[in-house]
Amino acid sequence: MILPIVKYGDPVLQKEGEEVNNIDGNLAEFIQNMFETMYEAKGCGLAGPQVALSKKLFVMDVSSGKETKDRIVCINPQIVETKGAIVSEEGCLSFPGIYFEVERPEIVTVSAIDLDGKEFTFEVDGLAARCVLHETDHINGKVFIEYLNPLKRDLIKRKIKKKIKLGDWE
Ligand SMILES: [Zn+2]
Repeated sequence: MILPIVKYGDPVLQKEGEEVNNIDGNLAEFIQNMFETMYEAKGCGLAGPQVALSKKLFVMDVSSGKETKDRIVCINPQIVETKGAIVSEEGCLSFPGIYFEVERPEIVTVSAIDLDGKEFTFEVDGLAARCVLHETDHINGKVFIEYLNPLKRDLIKRKIKKKIKLGDWE
């Protein structure tokens, strides 16, 4: 089932998600829906708050469904370590049509719980690292425009207001 993606302006995106303490069939089904929603929207990551579930979980797949090993569910993720820094263009399914460069660590080690309730740790770089950091921000109530300086952030906010007025933000 395709879920509606929450757009910037909805308070759920700026609220810290709750820890997940019950992994059951309902959650597994919801996560399956999150993958379907993410693939349909052509994104590489989707966090709970983006589909109005204010919980610490996200899904990601930098291969767009081509590689099973890239299909990752992270429940209650923690960034364990980061290395380096790299600037690259970034987008967000909750900010359709908005792209800009963001500096982030280059290599990330993350630990999380999977759908079987087992803890796992993995290290990623490149797009996958960017994705982990971006989605972890979401579950902590942080959106990527917070990385912009106030001037650029205001510009983007004005652009979004215009889009909302035109009915171009749903
Ligand atoms: Zn996002």
